[in-house]
Amino acid sequence: MKVLVIGGGGREHAIVHKLSQSSKVDKIYCAPGNAGIGLLAECVDIKVGDIEKLKEFAIKNYIDLTVVGPEMPLVQGIVDEFEKAGLRIFGPNKSAAAVEGSKYFTKQLLSKYNIPTGRFKAFDKYQEALKFLKETWYPVVMKADGLAQGKGVLIVKDFIEAKEALDLMMKKRIFGTSGDIVIIEEMLFGKEASVFAFTDGENILPMVSAMDYKKVYEGDKGPNTGGMGSIAPNPYLEEETLKEVMESVLKPMVKALQKEGIVYKGVLYAGLMLTNEGPKVLEFNARFGDPETQVVLPLLKTDLIDIMEATIEGKLDKIQLEWEDKKAVCAVAVSNGYPGEYQTGFEITGLEKVKEAFVYHAGTALKDGKITTSGGRVLAVTSIGDSYEEAREKVYREIEKISFEGMYYRKDIALVSQV
Ligand code: AMP
Repeated sequence: MKVLVIGGGGREHAIVHKLSQSSKVDKIYCAPGNAGIGLLAECVDIKVGDIEKLKEFAIKNYIDLTVVGPEMPLVQGIVDEFEKAGLRIFGPNKSAAAVEGSKYFTKQLLSKYNIPTGRFKAFDKYQEALKFLKETWYPVVMKADGLAQGKGVLIVKDFIEAKEALDLMMKKRIFGTSGDIVIIEEMLFGKEASVFAFTDGENILPMVSAMDYKKVYEGDKGPNTGGMGSIAPNPYLEEETLKEVMESVLKPMVKALQKEGIVYKGVLYAGLMLTNEGPKVLEFNARFGDPETQVVLPLLKTDLIDIMEATIEGKLDKIQLEWEDKKAVCAVAVSNGYPGEYQTGFEITGLEKVKEAFVYHAGTALKDGKITTSGGRVLAVTSIGDSYEEAREKVYREIEKISFEGMYYRKDIALVSQV
Protein backbone atom coordinates (compact mmCIF):
# COMPACT_ATOMS: atom_id res chain seq x y z
CA MET A 1 0.00 0.00 0.00
CA LYS A 2 0.97 3.58 -0.59
CA VAL A 3 -0.11 5.86 2.23
CA LEU A 4 -0.21 9.66 2.43
CA VAL A 5 -0.21 11.27 5.87
CA ILE A 6 -1.25 14.91 6.07
CA GLY A 7 0.44 17.11 8.67
CA GLY A 8 3.91 17.86 9.92
CA GLY A 9 3.98 17.70 13.71
CA GLY A 10 4.81 15.20 16.44
CA ARG A 11 1.38 13.62 16.12
CA GLU A 12 1.94 12.94 12.43
CA HIS A 13 5.42 11.57 13.15
CA ALA A 14 3.82 9.13 15.59
CA ILE A 15 1.22 8.13 12.98
CA VAL A 16 3.88 7.68 10.31
CA HIS A 17 6.03 5.68 12.75
CA LYS A 18 3.17 3.32 13.58
CA LEU A 19 2.15 2.95 9.92
CA SER A 20 5.75 2.16 8.99
CA GLN A 21 5.53 -0.90 11.25
CA SER A 22 2.65 -2.36 9.24
CA SER A 23 3.58 -5.17 6.85
CA LYS A 24 0.87 -3.85 4.53
CA VAL A 25 2.62 -0.54 3.93
CA ASP A 26 5.20 -0.24 1.16
CA LYS A 27 5.59 3.50 0.92
CA ILE A 28 4.61 6.49 3.02
CA TYR A 29 4.38 10.09 1.86
CA CYS A 30 3.84 12.93 4.28
CA ALA A 31 2.68 16.45 3.43
CA PRO A 32 4.43 18.56 4.51
CA GLY A 33 6.22 16.33 7.09
CA ASN A 34 9.34 17.42 8.96
CA ALA A 35 12.98 16.41 9.35
CA GLY A 36 12.20 13.36 11.52
CA ILE A 37 9.30 12.17 9.40
CA GLY A 38 11.64 12.41 6.43
CA LEU A 39 13.59 9.43 7.79
CA LEU A 40 10.51 7.18 7.46
CA ALA A 41 8.51 8.81 4.70
CA GLU A 42 8.96 10.92 1.62
CA CYS A 43 8.05 14.49 2.53
CA VAL A 44 5.96 16.35 -0.01
CA ASP A 45 5.95 20.13 -0.02
CA ILE A 46 2.17 20.74 0.05
CA LYS A 47 0.43 22.68 2.83
CA VAL A 48 -2.20 20.92 4.95
CA GLY A 49 -4.84 23.42 3.83
CA ASP A 50 -4.24 22.97 0.11
CA ILE A 51 -6.88 20.31 -0.45
CA GLU A 52 -6.84 20.61 -4.23
CA LYS A 53 -3.07 19.98 -4.47
CA LEU A 54 -3.24 17.14 -1.94
CA LYS A 55 -5.98 15.49 -3.97
CA GLU A 56 -4.02 15.88 -7.21
CA PHE A 57 -1.00 14.35 -5.51
CA ALA A 58 -3.01 11.38 -4.21
CA ILE A 59 -4.49 10.68 -7.65
CA LYS A 60 -1.21 11.05 -9.49
CA ASN A 61 0.71 8.83 -7.09
CA TYR A 62 -1.95 6.10 -6.75
CA ILE A 63 -2.30 6.62 -3.00
CA ASP A 64 -4.30 3.76 -1.45
CA LEU A 65 -5.03 5.49 1.83
CA THR A 66 -4.74 9.07 3.09
CA VAL A 67 -4.62 9.77 6.83
CA VAL A 68 -5.42 13.28 8.06
CA GLY A 69 -3.60 14.49 11.19
CA PRO A 70 -4.77 18.06 11.93
CA GLU A 71 -8.30 19.40 12.32
CA MET A 72 -8.16 22.24 9.83
CA PRO A 73 -8.41 20.20 6.60
CA LEU A 74 -11.04 17.95 8.20
CA VAL A 75 -13.22 20.91 9.11
CA GLN A 76 -12.68 22.31 5.59
CA GLY A 77 -14.00 19.10 4.09
CA ILE A 78 -10.93 17.28 2.78
CA VAL A 79 -12.62 13.91 3.35
CA ASP A 80 -15.63 14.84 1.21
CA GLU A 81 -13.35 16.08 -1.57
CA PHE A 82 -11.21 12.93 -1.56
CA GLU A 83 -14.25 10.65 -1.45
CA LYS A 84 -15.81 12.46 -4.40
CA ALA A 85 -12.65 11.69 -6.33
CA GLY A 86 -12.90 8.01 -5.35
CA LEU A 87 -9.95 8.18 -2.94
CA ARG A 88 -9.83 6.33 0.39
CA ILE A 89 -9.25 8.63 3.32
CA PHE A 90 -9.28 8.20 7.10
CA GLY A 91 -11.06 10.92 9.06
CA PRO A 92 -14.54 12.39 9.57
CA ASN A 93 -16.22 14.24 6.71
CA LYS A 94 -17.06 17.92 6.91
CA SER A 95 -20.42 17.57 8.64
CA ALA A 96 -18.95 15.15 11.21
CA ALA A 97 -15.82 17.26 11.80
CA ALA A 98 -18.17 20.06 12.91
CA VAL A 99 -17.92 18.46 16.37
CA GLU A 100 -14.60 20.30 16.49
CA GLY A 101 -15.23 23.00 13.89
CA SER A 102 -18.18 24.52 15.72
CA LYS A 103 -18.49 24.51 19.49
CA TYR A 104 -22.02 25.89 19.07
CA PHE A 105 -23.03 22.92 16.90
CA THR A 106 -21.62 20.53 19.50
CA LYS A 107 -23.19 22.25 22.50
CA GLN A 108 -26.59 22.25 20.78
CA LEU A 109 -26.24 18.57 19.95
CA LEU A 110 -25.20 17.76 23.52
CA SER A 111 -28.18 19.54 25.02
CA LYS A 112 -30.63 18.14 22.47
CA TYR A 113 -29.59 14.58 23.32
CA ASN A 114 -29.01 15.11 27.04
CA ILE A 115 -25.31 14.34 26.98
CA PRO A 116 -23.69 15.78 30.13
CA THR A 117 -21.94 19.13 29.59
CA GLY A 118 -21.79 22.57 31.23
CA ARG A 119 -24.84 24.85 30.89
CA PHE A 120 -24.33 27.52 28.27
CA LYS A 121 -25.73 30.36 26.24
CA ALA A 122 -24.64 31.35 22.74
CA PHE A 123 -24.62 34.84 21.28
CA ASP A 124 -24.06 36.26 17.83
CA LYS A 125 -24.78 39.83 18.91
CA TYR A 126 -22.34 41.80 21.01
CA GLN A 127 -24.93 43.81 22.96
CA GLU A 128 -26.91 40.74 23.94
CA ALA A 129 -23.77 38.95 25.11
CA LEU A 130 -22.74 42.02 27.10
CA LYS A 131 -26.14 42.23 28.77
CA PHE A 132 -25.89 38.59 29.78
CA LEU A 133 -22.37 39.09 31.13
CA LYS A 134 -23.64 41.94 33.33
CA GLU A 135 -26.19 39.67 34.95
CA THR A 136 -24.40 36.32 35.22
CA TRP A 137 -22.44 34.69 38.07
CA TYR A 138 -18.66 34.35 37.82
CA PRO A 139 -16.35 32.70 36.92
CA VAL A 140 -17.59 31.75 33.46
CA VAL A 141 -15.87 30.28 30.44
CA MET A 142 -16.01 32.15 27.14
CA LYS A 143 -15.44 30.29 23.91
CA ALA A 144 -15.15 31.32 20.29
CA ASP A 145 -17.35 29.06 18.22
CA GLY A 146 -14.86 28.12 15.50
CA LEU A 147 -11.26 26.91 15.28
CA ALA A 148 -8.79 29.16 17.10
CA GLN A 149 -5.61 27.06 17.34
CA GLY A 150 -6.45 26.06 20.89
CA LYS A 151 -6.58 29.71 22.01
CA GLY A 152 -10.31 30.34 21.74
CA VAL A 153 -11.23 29.50 25.35
CA LEU A 154 -10.94 32.08 28.11
CA ILE A 155 -11.86 31.64 31.76
CA VAL A 156 -12.97 35.00 33.18
CA LYS A 157 -13.42 35.83 36.84
CA ASP A 158 -15.50 39.01 36.68
CA PHE A 159 -17.40 41.34 34.35
CA ILE A 160 -14.31 43.44 33.55
CA GLU A 161 -12.39 40.42 32.27
CA ALA A 162 -15.47 39.13 30.50
CA LYS A 163 -16.00 42.40 28.63
CA GLU A 164 -12.32 42.42 27.61
CA ALA A 165 -12.66 38.89 26.28
CA LEU A 166 -15.88 39.71 24.45
CA ASP A 167 -14.28 42.79 22.88
CA LEU A 168 -11.35 40.69 21.67
CA MET A 169 -13.64 38.08 20.15
CA MET A 170 -16.49 40.17 18.74
CA LYS A 171 -15.06 43.67 18.21
CA LYS A 172 -11.33 43.22 17.54
CA ARG A 173 -12.21 39.85 16.02
CA ILE A 174 -8.88 38.27 16.97
CA PHE A 175 -10.21 34.86 15.91
CA GLY A 176 -11.81 36.19 12.71
CA THR A 177 -15.10 34.52 11.79
CA SER A 178 -14.46 31.89 14.50
CA GLY A 179 -15.67 34.56 16.93
CA ASP A 180 -18.96 35.27 15.08
CA ILE A 181 -20.68 33.26 17.76
CA VAL A 182 -19.47 33.36 21.36
CA ILE A 183 -20.45 30.70 23.87
CA ILE A 184 -20.66 31.58 27.53
CA GLU A 185 -20.45 28.47 29.62
CA GLU A 186 -20.71 27.44 33.22
CA MET A 187 -17.30 26.77 34.78
CA LEU A 188 -16.88 23.12 35.68
CA PHE A 189 -14.62 21.82 38.43
CA GLY A 190 -12.77 18.54 38.76
CA LYS A 191 -9.95 16.69 37.06
CA GLU A 192 -9.63 16.85 33.30
CA ALA A 193 -9.34 13.75 31.16
CA SER A 194 -9.37 12.99 27.46
CA VAL A 195 -10.65 9.81 25.90
CA PHE A 196 -9.90 8.89 22.29
CA ALA A 197 -11.84 6.32 20.36
CA PHE A 198 -11.95 4.93 16.86
CA THR A 199 -15.48 4.90 15.52
CA ASP A 200 -17.04 3.92 12.22
CA GLY A 201 -20.26 5.74 13.01
CA GLU A 202 -21.72 2.70 14.74
CA ASN A 203 -19.05 0.77 16.64
CA ILE A 204 -16.77 2.50 19.12
CA LEU A 205 -13.34 1.25 20.19
CA PRO A 206 -11.80 3.35 22.96
CA MET A 207 -8.04 3.66 22.99
CA VAL A 208 -5.73 3.39 25.94
CA SER A 209 -6.27 6.53 28.04
CA ALA A 210 -3.71 9.33 28.19
CA MET A 211 -3.02 12.50 30.10
CA ASP A 212 -1.27 15.59 28.81
CA TYR A 213 0.58 18.38 30.59
CA LYS A 214 -0.64 21.70 29.24
CA LYS A 215 1.19 24.28 31.33
CA VAL A 216 4.62 25.44 30.29
CA TYR A 217 6.33 25.28 33.71
CA GLU A 218 6.86 22.52 36.26
CA GLY A 219 4.16 22.05 38.85
CA ASP A 220 1.55 23.03 36.22
CA LYS A 221 2.41 26.71 36.33
CA GLY A 222 2.50 29.38 33.65
CA PRO A 223 0.52 29.77 30.46
CA ASN A 224 -1.12 26.98 28.48
CA THR A 225 0.77 25.42 25.61
CA GLY A 226 0.02 22.89 22.88
CA GLY A 227 1.33 20.29 25.35
CA MET A 228 4.61 19.85 27.24
CA GLY A 229 4.35 16.12 27.79
CA SER A 230 2.02 13.18 28.12
CA ILE A 231 1.67 9.78 29.74
CA ALA A 232 -0.39 6.69 28.98
CA PRO A 233 -2.37 5.11 30.42
CA ASN A 234 -3.89 8.00 32.37
CA PRO A 235 -3.32 7.02 36.03
CA TYR A 236 -6.37 9.05 37.12
CA LEU A 237 -8.84 7.52 34.73
CA GLU A 238 -10.04 4.31 36.34
CA GLU A 239 -11.70 1.51 34.41
CA GLU A 240 -15.01 2.42 36.02
CA THR A 241 -14.81 6.04 34.83
CA LEU A 242 -13.80 4.94 31.35
CA LYS A 243 -16.90 2.73 31.23
CA GLU A 244 -19.04 5.63 32.39
CA VAL A 245 -17.56 7.87 29.67
CA MET A 246 -18.37 5.18 27.12
CA GLU A 247 -21.97 4.84 28.30
CA SER A 248 -22.82 8.45 29.10
CA VAL A 249 -20.77 10.29 26.48
CA LEU A 250 -19.30 8.35 23.55
CA LYS A 251 -22.19 6.00 22.75
CA PRO A 252 -24.89 8.68 23.05
CA MET A 253 -22.75 11.10 21.00
CA VAL A 254 -22.28 8.68 18.10
CA LYS A 255 -26.02 7.87 18.25
CA ALA A 256 -26.90 11.58 18.36
CA LEU A 257 -24.80 12.21 15.27
CA GLN A 258 -26.50 9.27 13.53
CA LYS A 259 -29.90 10.73 14.34
CA GLU A 260 -28.78 13.97 12.74
CA GLY A 261 -27.85 12.01 9.63
CA ILE A 262 -24.10 12.14 10.29
CA VAL A 263 -21.93 9.01 10.10
CA TYR A 264 -18.81 9.81 12.09
CA LYS A 265 -15.78 7.86 10.86
CA GLY A 266 -12.38 8.43 12.37
CA VAL A 267 -10.96 9.33 15.73
CA LEU A 268 -13.40 10.90 18.15
CA TYR A 269 -11.65 12.68 20.99
CA ALA A 270 -13.66 13.67 24.04
CA GLY A 271 -12.24 16.34 26.36
CA LEU A 272 -13.91 15.84 29.73
CA MET A 273 -14.17 17.28 33.19
CA LEU A 274 -14.57 14.55 35.81
CA THR A 275 -16.97 16.39 38.12
CA ASN A 276 -18.57 14.95 41.23
CA GLU A 277 -21.74 14.62 39.20
CA GLY A 278 -19.85 12.41 36.74
CA PRO A 279 -17.94 13.12 33.52
CA LYS A 280 -19.06 16.19 31.57
CA VAL A 281 -18.01 17.15 28.04
CA LEU A 282 -15.75 20.17 27.61
CA GLU A 283 -15.18 19.66 23.92
CA PHE A 284 -14.89 17.16 21.13
CA ASN A 285 -12.04 16.96 18.69
CA ALA A 286 -12.17 15.26 15.33
CA ARG A 287 -8.64 13.80 15.32
CA PHE A 288 -5.81 12.42 17.42
CA GLY A 289 -4.45 14.67 20.19
CA ASP A 290 -0.92 16.02 20.29
CA PRO A 291 1.18 15.04 22.31
CA GLU A 292 -1.12 12.22 23.50
CA THR A 293 -0.67 10.34 20.22
CA GLN A 294 3.05 10.16 20.97
CA VAL A 295 2.26 7.92 23.98
CA VAL A 296 -0.91 6.17 22.77
CA LEU A 297 0.24 4.82 19.41
CA PRO A 298 3.54 3.37 20.71
CA LEU A 299 1.44 1.12 22.97
CA LEU A 300 -0.81 -0.08 20.12
CA LYS A 301 -0.17 -3.67 19.06
CA THR A 302 -2.96 -3.98 16.47
CA ASP A 303 -2.05 -3.05 12.90
CA LEU A 304 -3.11 0.59 12.44
CA ILE A 305 -3.88 -0.01 8.77
CA ASP A 306 -6.41 -2.73 9.72
CA ILE A 307 -8.08 -0.35 12.16
CA MET A 308 -8.22 2.51 9.67
CA GLU A 309 -9.59 0.36 6.88
CA ALA A 310 -12.21 -1.17 9.16
CA THR A 311 -13.21 2.35 10.24
CA ILE A 312 -13.71 3.45 6.64
CA GLU A 313 -15.63 0.27 5.75
CA GLY A 314 -17.84 0.34 8.85
CA LYS A 315 -16.38 -2.92 10.11
CA LEU A 316 -14.87 -1.95 13.44
CA ASP A 317 -16.91 -4.74 15.06
CA LYS A 318 -14.39 -7.12 13.45
CA ILE A 319 -11.44 -5.46 15.20
CA GLN A 320 -10.21 -5.95 18.71
CA LEU A 321 -7.66 -3.40 19.85
CA GLU A 322 -4.61 -4.84 21.58
CA TRP A 323 -2.30 -2.77 23.72
CA GLU A 324 1.09 -3.35 25.33
CA ASP A 325 0.68 -3.80 29.05
CA LYS A 326 3.22 -1.03 29.66
CA LYS A 327 3.49 2.65 30.45
CA ALA A 328 4.54 5.34 28.00
CA VAL A 329 5.98 8.72 28.96
CA CYS A 330 6.71 11.65 26.67
CA ALA A 331 8.49 14.93 27.36
CA VAL A 332 8.36 17.77 24.84
CA ALA A 333 11.38 20.00 24.21
CA VAL A 334 10.47 23.54 23.18
CA SER A 335 12.21 26.69 21.98
CA ASN A 336 13.11 29.31 24.57
CA GLY A 337 10.20 31.72 24.97
CA TYR A 338 7.46 29.34 23.80
CA PRO A 339 4.41 29.70 24.02
CA GLY A 340 5.31 33.36 23.57
CA GLU A 341 7.82 34.57 21.02
CA TYR A 342 10.83 32.42 20.18
CA GLN A 343 13.59 32.12 17.61
CA THR A 344 14.15 29.23 15.26
CA GLY A 345 16.87 27.93 12.97
CA PHE A 346 19.17 26.50 15.65
CA GLU A 347 20.99 23.25 14.98
CA ILE A 348 19.79 20.22 16.97
CA THR A 349 22.59 17.90 18.03
CA GLY A 350 22.84 14.56 19.79
CA LEU A 351 19.82 12.91 18.15
CA GLU A 352 21.95 9.98 16.98
CA LYS A 353 22.96 9.21 20.59
CA VAL A 354 19.39 8.48 21.67
CA LYS A 355 18.99 4.75 22.25
CA GLU A 356 16.18 4.01 24.69
CA ALA A 357 13.59 6.47 23.45
CA PHE A 358 11.93 7.46 20.23
CA VAL A 359 12.22 11.09 19.22
CA TYR A 360 9.12 12.40 17.50
CA HIS A 361 9.91 15.57 15.61
CA ALA A 362 7.46 18.47 15.66
CA GLY A 363 9.09 21.79 14.75
CA THR A 364 12.21 20.62 12.94
CA ALA A 365 13.56 21.20 9.46
CA LEU A 366 16.48 20.01 7.38
CA LYS A 367 18.82 22.88 6.45
CA ASP A 368 22.10 22.28 4.59
CA GLY A 369 22.13 18.68 5.80
CA LYS A 370 21.60 19.72 9.41
CA ILE A 371 18.50 19.24 11.54
CA THR A 372 17.38 22.61 12.88
CA THR A 373 14.54 24.00 14.98
CA SER A 374 11.61 25.44 13.05
CA GLY A 375 8.83 25.82 15.64
CA GLY A 376 7.88 26.33 19.27
CA ARG A 377 7.42 22.72 20.15
CA VAL A 378 10.50 21.13 18.63
CA LEU A 379 10.50 17.45 19.55
CA ALA A 380 8.84 14.90 21.79
CA VAL A 381 10.85 12.14 23.43
CA THR A 382 8.89 8.99 24.27
CA SER A 383 9.97 5.91 26.23
CA ILE A 384 8.12 2.81 27.27
CA GLY A 385 8.64 0.89 30.50
CA ASP A 386 7.02 -1.55 32.89
CA SER A 387 6.35 1.36 35.24
CA TYR A 388 5.92 5.12 34.85
CA GLU A 389 9.16 5.49 36.78
CA GLU A 390 11.12 3.29 34.40
CA ALA A 391 9.73 5.02 31.32
CA ARG A 392 10.32 8.40 32.90
CA GLU A 393 13.95 7.67 33.77
CA LYS A 394 14.65 6.61 30.22
CA VAL A 395 13.01 9.73 28.78
CA TYR A 396 15.12 12.06 30.90
CA ARG A 397 18.34 10.08 30.40
CA GLU A 398 17.84 10.27 26.64
CA ILE A 399 16.53 13.83 26.29
CA GLU A 400 19.70 15.09 28.01
CA LYS A 401 21.71 13.83 25.06
CA ILE A 402 19.89 16.22 22.73
CA SER A 403 20.62 19.89 22.62
CA PHE A 404 19.81 23.08 20.75
CA GLU A 405 20.11 26.72 21.71
CA GLY A 406 17.36 27.72 24.14
CA MET A 407 16.10 24.15 24.59
CA TYR A 408 13.60 23.87 27.45
CA TYR A 409 11.56 20.95 28.78
CA ARG A 410 9.59 20.21 31.92
CA LYS A 411 11.40 17.83 34.26
CA ASP A 412 8.31 16.71 36.16
CA ILE A 413 6.44 14.71 33.54
CA ALA A 414 5.19 11.45 35.12
CA LEU A 415 6.74 12.28 38.47
CA VAL A 416 5.81 9.55 40.93
CA SER A 417 4.33 12.05 43.36
CA GLN A 418 1.85 12.99 40.66
CA VAL A 419 0.94 9.63 39.18
P1 AMP B 1 -11.95 23.31 25.17
O1 AMP B 1 -11.20 23.68 23.93
O2 AMP B 1 -13.40 23.64 25.13
O3 AMP B 1 -11.67 21.94 25.70
O4 AMP B 1 -11.30 24.20 26.29
C1 AMP B 1 -9.90 24.19 26.52
C2 AMP B 1 -9.64 24.12 27.99
O5 AMP B 1 -10.40 25.11 28.68
C3 AMP B 1 -10.08 22.82 28.62
O6 AMP B 1 -9.10 21.84 28.48
C4 AMP B 1 -10.30 23.25 30.05
O7 AMP B 1 -9.07 23.34 30.73
C5 AMP B 1 -10.86 24.63 29.92
N1 AMP B 1 -12.34 24.63 29.92
C6 AMP B 1 -13.15 24.60 28.87
N2 AMP B 1 -14.44 24.61 29.23
C7 AMP B 1 -14.45 24.64 30.57
C8 AMP B 1 -15.49 24.66 31.56
N3 AMP B 1 -16.78 24.67 31.24
N4 AMP B 1 -15.12 24.67 32.85
C9 AMP B 1 -13.82 24.68 33.20
N5 AMP B 1 -12.81 24.67 32.34
C10 AMP B 1 -13.10 24.65 31.02
